[in-house]
Order: sequence, then C-alpha cells, then structure tokens
Amino acid sequence: MNDDTDAMAKPDSRFAAKVFPSPNHGERKQPDGTPGRRPDMLILHYTGMPIAGEALQWLCNPVSQVSSHYFVFENGHTLQLVPEGRRAWHAGASHWGGEADINSCSIGIEIANPGHPGGLPDFPEAQIAATLALCRDICERWSIPPERVLAHSDVAPGRKIDPGEKFPWRRFAEGGVGLWVEPAPIRGGRFFARGEAGQPVEALQAMFAMLGYGVTVDGIYDERLEAVVAAFQRHWRPEKVDGVADSSTITTLRDLLAATQSARVA
Ligand SMILES: [Zn+2]
Repeated sequence: MNDDTDAMAKPDSRFAAKVFPSPNHGERKQPDGTPGRRPDMLILHYTGMPIAGEALQWLCNPVSQVSSHYFVFENGHTLQLVPEGRRAWHAGASHWGGEADINSCSIGIEIANPGHPGGLPDFPEAQIAATLALCRDICERWSIPPERVLAHSDVAPGRKIDPGEKFPWRRFAEGGVGLWVEPAPIRGGRFFARGEAGQPVEALQAMFAMLGYGVTVDGIYDERLEAVVAAFQRHWRPEKVDGVADSSTITTLRDLLAATQSARVA
C-alpha cells in the first residue's frame, strides 16, 4: 500500500495538475491471468453526470467500484486518480481485438460532460485541448498505436454510448491521437439493416471483427450487430448514428481498415 502511495506522490503525466487518489484499482493481468499486462490501449469516456465534482467523488468512492486513471474538468483542470501501472475500473464488460479484460490493457480517461442524459453539451475548448495534450503524452510514453485509441462505446457497444458522437475524433487524429479517415458522404444505394441475413452480412461482420469490434460472424443482422454499427458510426461517421449499414458506413469502414493496415505496417 505504501508503494502505491509513494508512486502516486506525483502524477505520471506532466499534464495532470495533481493526484486525487481513488482506492478503486488492482493489478493489470495478462490474458492467462499472470500479472504484468502493459497498457497498449487508451479508452475515452464522458462522466454522464450533471455535476463534475459529483462524478469525481463517485470515481473515488470505494462503494462505486469504478475509477479511471485521469479526470478532466470542463475548464481543462486534470487530476490523476489511479497510477498508470495499475488496473483502473472504467471499461466494465468489454471486448476489443479478441481481448475481454480491457481494464488490464488500457488507460482510461473520464471527461466531465453531462452526456446524452444531459443533452450532450459541446466539450469546451479548454477541456478538449487539455485532453488532447494528456492523450498525446500517454500515447507517446506507452507507444499506444493510433488504432487503439477508442471510445468506451467501441469496446462495449449496446451497453455504452460515451464519449458520444460530438467528441472531436477528427481533431484528435489531426493532433496525433487516434485514427481517422474522412467519412464517405451519405447518399442512397444498397444498405443492410436489422432483420437481414446472409453472406453480405457475414462479410460486414468480418470487417468489423478485423477492426477489433467484438462481433460474432454468423451472417445475422441482429440487435448486437446493429449496436456495433451504431458504435462505429458514433466514432467514425458521426453525422448519422442509426445502426443501419448504409453505403457511406461501409465505405468508411473499408477506408478505415485500409488505414489501420498501413498504420500497423508502419
Ligand atoms: Zn464510459
């Protein structure tokens, strides 16, 4: 316990003003259960509560069993709650790239915003600038690849919708954080939606699985696939989030996969 306290005397990132410790953390684990998983993923959240200070208190309350590594207020003021080397409890039941214990392999940032229940107000400029600087620093220090900077909604589709479709992913990618391709324009044409089944749906599922989403490739466009499509749209085609795989969504997915492949090779 002393070690943790000592390690937390100073924030891991120079972009955090100070440490405001949460007791809610544990040991990072490898998929086989042995300790020592290194974080190689960054997950962004919004708090979804009307008052930032209350969200912060909740993340530091042992009763809540939730936490994050960092907390960014609307004015950009940033606190560190959990040491980066420890497993914070922000992702819950999640999947990405074949892994299920996302808390063990990620660093989580909570961004104070009332979220969809509070009308999804814009993220203030000071908050975005502070979050971007923090993310860039974390990605550099841990060599987190751009395609592994994700929304909570990406790793828990159907269960989570944060940080929401107003989060400025494009600007983050321009600032060196995360992966972005220009979304294909929305127009008519062939589309797939809930209730359909068959080989084209299977091919679509395979593309989402290749990107990292936790999808079952069974050729059935059910509620679960609809949630994955909506999560993808929320992040990469935010103009229209409806869970329908229209040609704009499919083209954007294909372009993003191509960008991911070249990012992985580089
Ligand atoms: Zn979240």
